[in-house]
Amino acid sequence: SLSDITGFAEITPTAPIAAERHGGRAKCLQRLIRLAMPVPPTVALDFDAVHALSKGDMPDLDAMLAFFGPDPLLSVRPSSEDPDWGGPGAILNIGMNDALHARLTESHGEPAANALYLRFIQSYAVHVARADPDEFEAGGAPTAEALAHALAAYEDETDEPFPQDVRDQLGEVLRSMARAWEGTTARLLREAKGAPADAGLGLVVQKMALGVGNGISGSGVIQFVSGQSGRPEIRGRYMCQAQGRDALTAKDGAGDILYLKQDPRGRSIETVLPEVWSDLMRYGDLARKRLREEMQIEFTVENEELFILDAVRVPRSPRANLRIAVALANDGIISQDEAVLRVPPHSLSELLHSQVDPAGKRDIVGSGIAASPGAATGKIVFTARAAQAMAAQDEPCVLVRRETTPEDIRGMHAAKAVLTERGGVTSHAAVIARGLGVPCVVGASDLTLDLKAGTLTTPDGRVFREGDRITIDGSHGKVIAGSARMLAPALGDNFRTLLAWADAARDIGVRANADTPEDARKAQMFEAEGIGLCRTEHMFFAEDRLLAMREMIFADDAVDRRSILDRIGPMLRRDFVELFGIMKGRPVTIRLFDLPLHEFLPQNREGLRELAEALDLPLSDVTRRAEALTEFNPMLGMRGVRLGLTVPEIYDTQARAIFEAVVEVAREGATVVPEIMIPLVSAKREVEIVKARVDAVAAAVRIERGVDFDYRLGVMVETPRAALRAGEIAPHSAFLSFGTNDLTQMTYGLSRDDAGRFMSQYVAQGVYDEDPFHVLDADGVGELLMLGAERGRRTNPGITLSICGEHGGNPESIAFCRDARFDYVSCSPFRVPVARLAAAHLAI
Ligand code: PEP
Ligand code: MG
Repeated sequence: SLSDITGFAEITPTAPIAAERHGGRAKCLQRLIRLAMPVPPTVALDFDAVHALSKGDMPDLDAMLAFFGPDPLLSVRPSSEDPDWGGPGAILNIGMNDALHARLTESHGEPAANALYLRFIQSYAVHVARADPDEFEAGGAPTAEALAHALAAYEDETDEPFPQDVRDQLGEVLRSMARAWEGTTARLLREAKGAPADAGLGLVVQKMALGVGNGISGSGVIQFVSGQSGRPEIRGRYMCQAQGRDALTAKDGAGDILYLKQDPRGRSIETVLPEVWSDLMRYGDLARKRLREEMQIEFTVENEELFILDAVRVPRSPRANLRIAVALANDGIISQDEAVLRVPPHSLSELLHSQVDPAGKRDIVGSGIAASPGAATGKIVFTARAAQAMAAQDEPCVLVRRETTPEDIRGMHAAKAVLTERGGVTSHAAVIARGLGVPCVVGASDLTLDLKAGTLTTPDGRVFREGDRITIDGSHGKVIAGSARMLAPALGDNFRTLLAWADAARDIGVRANADTPEDARKAQMFEAEGIGLCRTEHMFFAEDRLLAMREMIFADDAVDRRSILDRIGPMLRRDFVELFGIMKGRPVTIRLFDLPLHEFLPQNREGLRELAEALDLPLSDVTRRAEALTEFNPMLGMRGVRLGLTVPEIYDTQARAIFEAVVEVAREGATVVPEIMIPLVSAKREVEIVKARVDAVAAAVRIERGVDFDYRLGVMVETPRAALRAGEIAPHSAFLSFGTNDLTQMTYGLSRDDAGRFMSQYVAQGVYDEDPFHVLDADGVGELLMLGAERGRRTNPGITLSICGEHGGNPESIAFCRDARFDYVSCSPFRVPVARLAAAHLAI
């Protein structure tokens, strides 16, 4: 083709221009030309030509200049495949030299000629000749002196006169832009935005429309929606006697700015140039309908004639992006599936919570792991009790702890945000905060917490005390001094509409991890298909119940235990009745107690004394018993089914509470088939023993109440052995749910509560690509998932498979589970919308 010979191609409606070869800008310009918009003559250089250029191989510049005709004024703009990957800045007015300046002074007046030449000298000097930018500051008045100064400075800096030959100018501009793209900084920047290592750059050379000179001339930018909210509204700026994007960057009063549409404050394009205005309206509408996107249009008016120079996707916030996608689909411009694909799943989490406004001022004083998204400001408190006291006075507070334990839950509830010095993404603080929807930063180890002194000290020595105000940005893992400007959450009709479209497309289920009726209401609000994990021990984190749980753990004879279980049973039953009611017949998976004992033992003397009082025992007895229960490695100790087997009455009590709740809601006409899940299984026999007892309790309740009911019993696969032996476990299980928190912990031999201390080092050194507690380790832990699923299916083909660890809400893990043909994923309620959308993206 011609472009193979000359190294460039004219952009015409039919030229073979492709975004993958010429870049997004070139392709977009072709579309504008096809829509018959007045785009000045333009040629495109493809990726190969630009790459060759960087190696010194010039395109046929004579042919290019011949195309543009005598005395051309040109611009060169970058055209990367994805506009987000950036590129060198545009260079305008190539072709200006002394001779043309003289002629333009005649035809367009001296100020215009000066402005055109000055602008070119400034950008050529800085970007092409690499002269000292301080010598060529843009923005001054385009006087004859300024021009003379710039020409002299150029010669001074480069020891050469300013080039007068258009061919030389153009060649050097093209070469320098090609080289800039190959530079290390530019490459790292675009790779950070997802560009491949070999991403190419195209260049677009366009004949200038002069925004300066005769008659009404100027340039501007217009868009038809707000980039913040996505609502329809005309925005932009137009400045008389200006070029490029000057109108956007000019300070108020720096030039003659026209309002776009009629405005009582001054003159507008609409009144001064009504034809230009109506054309702009028409082009805006055309671009939306035919480019199927909200575009920002860059235009120039040359002596009252409109030219369209360029158009880019309107830069937008996540909430604007959502609204725009839904509006385009509602208007029949794109399909519903397309709208779903245009919203990145992760962007939703920004809409569910308040966010720190990235445009506002922030005084960042520390950072850690972004453990629970959203942001909040409050006064520092160092104890759960103080958090509750503050909340009682309606005073927003931030709970700052070394790490959290069940004793802090009430405080976490009361606080607007949580900050811990230790811990990783599956630490207690992180899991609970995500469940509560409270912004949280964990593992902020650069901050020094001195609980005795009541101080929080930053690396540079600033000291914060109780009552000082800070802001936690849980989306980005930042601690900010004082308050920060916030953006409010946006859960509106558009959100619901888009997710309904996502639901229609996806082919894997999404349930919520919900422990309490309050969580279940959130799950319901986010339209989860059921509860995939109810951690029943979490029902006992509430103040009035923690003690009951401790009494149960401490009871050391059957009689005492019976009496406390007789109190716990009805509490559980009430909760289950409420949960079933809220979930309206949707499946509810109830996990039998998994009590890491250390999470439930009192942490201090005061707690021990309270317990001694409640148990009516001497403090020394209680202390001794607490010591006896202390484990060297509680996460590998008497947890889960191990406690269930050693003290079988506990699971009996739970099973009875579940079945009695089923009977109770059955009386009101609702049919519930509860799913009972056994935690931390490592051997088939554990399942057989628990199953026999649960079956016996069910039989007893059926006879006592004279009501029949069904239930499903399943196993949580959290130990490597359970995954490996899934083949012999599956025949006893209606479902297998992979608890990837513990499975990751045990596969790596990495404590989920302590890994935060060195995880960032590990990731920084490339030992792990990512924190495996955050992103499912597809190679190792994933292989256990695949093995377990395959072996389980072989012996029980109808078995239901799911994942319920924290990974369940991550798009990568959802892809993994979908490929492995799992039935559903389960994640904390606030991540349910993200998971629904991510699942739809995979299915479309
Ligand atoms: C798990 O281990 O993945 C799990 C869901 O259980 P928990 O986080 O309660 O240990
Ligand atoms: Mg677990």
